[in-house]
Formats: sequence, structure tokens, C-alpha cells
Amino acid sequence: MYLMSHHRLSQRRACALLRHPRSSHRDRSVKDPQLALRQRMREIAQVRDRYGYRRIHVLLRREGWKHSRGKTYRVYTEERLQLRSKLPKRRKMVVQRHQRMQPAAPDDAWTMDFVADQLANGTWFRALTVVDVFTREALAIEIGQRLKGEDVVATLDRIMSTRSVLEDTRQVQRAVELIRLGARLQMLQAETALPYERLLRLYKEVAGRSPSKGQLPFSTDWFTSWQPNIHASLFFNIYSYLLKASPLDEIEAIAKAWQLYGAEVSTLGVEPLLSITRAWRLVRFVDAGMLTTIRCTRCSGHFIGHAYELERDYVCGLCEPPARAGRARRAGAIH
Ligand SMILES: [Zn+2]
Repeated sequence: MYLMSHHRLSQRRACALLRHPRSSHRDRSVKDPQLALRQRMREIAQVRDRYGYRRIHVLLRREGWKHSRGKTYRVYTEERLQLRSKLPKRRKMVVQRHQRMQPAAPDDAWTMDFVADQLANGTWFRALTVVDVFTREALAIEIGQRLKGEDVVATLDRIMSTRSVLEDTRQVQRAVELIRLGARLQMLQAETALPYERLLRLYKEVAGRSPSKGQLPFSTDWFTSWQPNIHASLFFNIYSYLLKASPLDEIEAIAKAWQLYGAEVSTLGVEPLLSITRAWRLVRFVDAGMLTTIRCTRCSGHFIGHAYELERDYVCGLCEPPARAGRARRAGAIH
């Protein structure tokens, strides 16, 4: 079920991956008196993927099954759960029923385990534990006298639904914050996993108007013209610092740096020239190697420049304003 709903696999494919006979998943035949035992053995074998039939039999006995070991063995072979049928005897248990994966992030892999124990009054109970392999967080501990396949599915479904709601909430919060900062729809589409229609509704609700239409007009040249370059460079220096010195991810650092940049220029009495969407484009241009930072040979400040500009000749727009700058200066440029 996890594979099917999480990775959009068909039932056939999911069963093939888990080496799980599809017939057992689909038809619950009532004619097979061994059905409960078969199902339970498959569950145990799935979780205890190095147990042979003897150890599986011990677990079954602990759970209250009364049949002989021979019967466990018969069902075990019928279900093709053997670990080393036709392989060399060189080493024990070199085979696994399914490949183990190395998780790299939370929710990459969960492990399930069944434990059984007896209460003082002799009642057996079972517990199903689900643990995130990467974070070691215990996601669920289900306790019951009989936990069946359906209970496992219900438990996993329940964990998954809360997980995806949390992720969805994070995405919406991110989108709302970016809309408040004035981000264009293209930026929201690139930086969140929310579908277009949903972003459009969010945008109208938060901004109180429809998003502006059309392509983003910005080319790399805008960032190297005189005043825009000073604004872009100020933003980018703050952004680079945040990325290095704080735990913020790239988009969070863009949003935060842009707010700090806005506060900085307002103390200079200047309107911010760089919109949040432009700031985001700038980071993308730098990531793509189309723009870079260049050190000014006079003031040693770092400024945005084209990747092909030569550092040894570079003088920034603060040290050497263009000839036409006189009037702009009085009109509130950074200088
Ligand atoms: Zn300079």
C-alpha cells in the first residue's frame, strides 16, 4: 500500500518489487484453512528478512499458534520463503528476501516490526512498531490482541496522511510568504510543489488581485546596469552571507535577504529597485554561471557582473559612476 500510494505504482508493480505474490494480496480465499497462518508467516518473513522457518516457528508459538514445526515448514516452503534453496553453502544467509535501501532523508524508509508478549493474566498481545530509518523516530506503536494485515495497512495510511498534510502546509506557508513579498506566479510555480490552480487561488486570496500575466522580462543585462547593479549586489552579498551562516535553505535565504536588503535601502531613503522575483532570478543566473560576483579593484566590494568580465580591470558603479549620474544622484540613487 505504501508503494502504491506513495510512488504511484500499480498493484502489479508494487507486488513485484516486494516479491509479494499478487494473488495473496487480491483474493482472500475462504477455502484455504491455512490462510491466516500463511498470511502471518508472510508478514513475519517480510519483517524478519533473515529468519528461517525454525525461528519463524518460535515466533508463531509465542503468538499462540499451536501447530507442529513440520507444518510451519510445509507452509514455509509452499510460500517459497526459503532463504538459500539453491545457492552455495559458502556463507549463511547471504540472500535477502528483498533489497535493503540506504535512506538519505526522513520518510525515505520506514521499518516495521511485530513484537508479541504476554500479560500477567496470560493474555497475549501484539504490538506493531513503525520507525523512520533515517530519523529513528517512532511513527506508530499499534497494540492489539490480533493485529492483521488490514491493521498494518490502516496504520501506514494514517501515518502517511498526517505526513502529507504537514508537507502540504509547509508548501502553502512558503507560497503565502512569497506572495506577501510580491513574488510573481512563475517564482511560486518554480519554488513550491503546489499545482497551478491552487497557487492562482492562493495568490488572489493573499494579494487581493489576479497575478500579472506574461513572461518574466528580465535579462542578465538589467543586473549589470548602474543602479540596478548596486541594488542587486547589496542583496546578493546579504544572501550569500545568510546561506553560509544560517540554516536557511536557498529560497528561505532569498526571502530573508530580500527583506534585509529592503530595510537597508530604506534607511538610505531609496526605493528598492530589486523585486523579490528579480532577486530570485539573480540567484538562478548566478547558479547557472551566467552572472557572478566580481571584486572591485578600488573598494574591494563584491559586485554582480557578467561571468566573462575580467576582475583585474573591474571598477564598481559606486567608485566610478557613469557620466550621466549627476541628476540621478539627486533623485535618490545609492552612491
Ligand atoms: Zn568599488
